[in-house]
Amino acid sequence: MSKEVWKSFEENEITHSAAHYLMTINTLLAEHGYARVTDIAKYLNITRGSCSISLRPLKRRGLVVEDENKFLQLSPEGKRLAELVERNDELLERLFRDVLGVSPDQAEVDACKIEHLLSIESSVKLANLMHLIDSGHKVVKPFLEQLRHHEVECSHEADECEFCNSVCFFEKEAQRQKLMPLES
Ligand SMILES: [Zn+2]
Ligand SMILES: [Zn+2]
Repeated sequence: MSKEVWKSFEENEITHSAAHYLMTINTLLAEHGYARVTDIAKYLNITRGSCSISLRPLKRRGLVVEDENKFLQLSPEGKRLAELVERNDELLERLFRDVLGVSPDQAEVDACKIEHLLSIESSVKLANLMHLIDSGHKVVKPFLEQLRHHEVECSHEADECEFCNSVCFFEKEAQRQKLMPLES
């Protein structure tokens, strides 16, 4: 990946934590019709104090709006971001679990970690892919069955393997899974 692309992640629209605050407010508003700092803190299992601090930059950017009675709302832009990240999370979780065959718990963790980083372009392409998977088109079932049984052949000798570079990817992966399952 080029240096410029890597750097641009730093200027990403919202941080992971900000994404979860926006999604929480969106959920609370949908479920209860209101969202106060106390409600968000309870939902995210954090203190009221740290919740207030984390909400500050979101208010400053006009994504979260507080009325005179301390009730919080999302601005149209805040709501757009919350729904975008929610949709990315659903799509990514299904991609990992239903297409790639990642275990359900790990699929949930991995989707959560990257949900806020996808570009709109990739998100739309992913939506198209998942729509095709759901469509029942005749290519889908044989493709998924083929994928389930397809594995890269690795000799664990990095210089002989087509897939690995100087370090064996599969040995590292196996070790990582043993050492820190579901690490987020
Ligand atoms: Zn997340
Ligand atoms: Zn290999």
